[in-house]
Amino acid sequence: MDDFYKENILDHYRHPRNAGTLENPTHTHESHNPLCGDVIRIDLHVNEDNIVDDVAFSGRGCAISQASASMLTELIKGQPLEEVKKISKDDILDMLGIEIGPVRLKCALLSLKTLKAGIYGLEEPDEDDEDW
Ligand code: ZN
Repeated sequence: MDDFYKENILDHYRHPRNAGTLENPTHTHESHNPLCGDVIRIDLHVNEDNIVDDVAFSGRGCAISQASASMLTELIKGQPLEEVKKISKDDILDMLGIEIGPVRLKCALLSLKTLKAGIYGLEEPDEDDEDW
């Protein structure tokens, strides 16, 4: 395991970026990962130009779930919504940069799942579905 990535994950876990909630989110969603007890809520504010101009997350759970949420908020802040919609599972795994086993995969992808469900105002996508 690469120490840089491991340290980076722990840093995000200990010092989450964009932690908290937004007062007037345009999109909000909360998801759970019952296997691990992780909870992530993501609030987004999308402006009239369809840019994600503010984002916040709150939650609790393991380091992987919280770090991936923190990294994801950094990635999407200031981005056009259309670009945010294109973020894939692989982008999240690249960002984490460590080997993620099948059980931890649900932890790692909980934030993306929460984000996508919030954006689309839909039920949570199935992580076995390759299209989300
Ligand atoms: Zn977890």
